[in-house]
Amino acid sequence: MAPTTRPARAADRSHAVVIGAGLAGLTAARALADAYERVTVLDRDALPADPASRRGVPQSRQLHVLLARGAQALEELFPGFLEELLAAGATRADTQGEVHWYLDGHLLRPAPSGVISYGASRPRVEHHVRARVAALPGVTVREGVEVLGPVATPDRGRVTGVRVRPLARDTEEAGEETIPAGLVVDASGRASRVPVWLEELGYPRPRQTRVRADVVYVTRHFRREPHHIGGRSGVALVPFPGLPRGGAIVSERKDRFAVVLFGLLGEEPPADEAGMLAYAESLPGPDVAEVLRTAEPLNEPVRMRYPASVRHHYEKLDRHLGGLLVTGDALCSFNPTYGQGMTAAAQQAIVLRALLTRGRDADGLPRRFFRAAAKVVDTPWLLAAGGDLRFPEAEGRRGPADGLLDRYLTRYRAAASVDPVLGRTFLSVAHMLQPPARLMSPGHVLRVLRAARGAGGPVGTEP
Ligand SMILES: Cc1cc2nc3c(=O)[nH]c(=O)nc-3n(C[C@H](O)[C@H](O)[C@H](O)COP(=O)(O)OP(=O)(O)OC[C@H]3O[C@@H](n4cnc5c(N)ncnc54)[C@H](O)[C@@H]3O)c2cc1C
Repeated sequence: MAPTTRPARAADRSHAVVIGAGLAGLTAARALADAYERVTVLDRDALPADPASRRGVPQSRQLHVLLARGAQALEELFPGFLEELLAAGATRADTQGEVHWYLDGHLLRPAPSGVISYGASRPRVEHHVRARVAALPGVTVREGVEVLGPVATPDRGRVTGVRVRPLARDTEEAGEETIPAGLVVDASGRASRVPVWLEELGYPRPRQTRVRADVVYVTRHFRREPHHIGGRSGVALVPFPGLPRGGAIVSERKDRFAVVLFGLLGEEPPADEAGMLAYAESLPGPDVAEVLRTAEPLNEPVRMRYPASVRHHYEKLDRHLGGLLVTGDALCSFNPTYGQGMTAAAQQAIVLRALLTRGRDADGLPRRFFRAAAKVVDTPWLLAAGGDLRFPEAEGRRGPADGLLDRYLTRYRAAASVDPVLGRTFLSVAHMLQPPARLMSPGHVLRVLRAARGAGGPVGTEP
């Protein structure tokens, strides 16, 4: 039976359900808590009492950094959050002043920038966000509960809840139950089943854009000592055409580095000690190799593959299932080397909170949310997918002006090794504080032309 259109209806704000207690689900729950009497966050994992990686979030064992815009967004959602994170041992860094960035092999000229990023493990960030969410009045976080699918009205116009299967701790599965809800927010990550659920209910699947990146990550943790990497907080060695490999160091705590090596599009870092060192030595900057050579390892290297950035265009659907939203990686997941996922998730929660404050029309909410969330996603998508399409091997649609833009940005990156203003703008854009168009302002074009003459060779030395 085809779903029918119903007249506008005021929202039932008694109960909302969120699928997934990752960063997207938790921040969405924060937004919902202001508007709904009760909010239930469901996750199939057992949720650890201390910051620890878990099965449902395999990337939680890999290096994460919280971009400047993401830090601001979490602070906006949870006032006092950043101080709390720092008090728990996380670090903050001026990303141009205290981190060495290598762009196309050039060392971006270090200078104070005011672009502040945070170093903390992914489990640490989730742990503090979850504690704040669980303490909100009306919010319950239920672990060990798998969501099987939505329950809809007989005419399939809107959701009325979800079917779930509680997973008993002794691995014996308990029976199914239904949890009624006026709104369901899917934040179940990259493997979201919403496109299938929609199809089963007679709705079209959203169109998908994919850019194959084929990223392989190998992360290992090391003891950080004050003399390492000149006392700096971290390093980012960004891959570029001709060298589709990179690496990064983030100070997760004063005494702990997360170090990642990664490769794109067929390039894979090894996960054994000698192989990792040789790979690190092939990178344009010395810092990763220095840490691998001289710092005490704290665990074994962990490998993870990430096939493609994927964007689901729910905003383009002409019919929506009432009361069903999708957020976070389930909506759009980005090549992780750009470090954008947590920021985009928190920004989507801010957008959701604003929409819920503005109106109570339940059926119009999905359309309004997906449009607003698409705007949030546009910029990180442009940066990540656009960056990947620089590589001739990357599969994805290229626009007619891409070649010209790419040539300009190549000159820009070289010029940023000389002109710290160009570096600051580049990082402000990468950290989502400023729109990408800023890189092309007349003042910046002039600086690029001026600096181009003075730019150093591809392997930068500190000016
Ligand atoms: C290798 C790697 C490195 C990354 N590095 C960074 C970085 O440096 N900075 C950054 O900001 N982002 C980074 N990201 C992205 C970031 O981890 C995510 O974007 C962010 O955590 C938001 O994810 P999410 O909450 O949407 O989904 P997830 O973290 O995948 O969470 C989904 C949750 O849903 C639960 N779930 C799934 N299905 C069901 C079901 N049917 N029933 C109940 N529960 C269910 C899962 O158990 C899980 O808890 C990285 C990603 C990868 C892969």
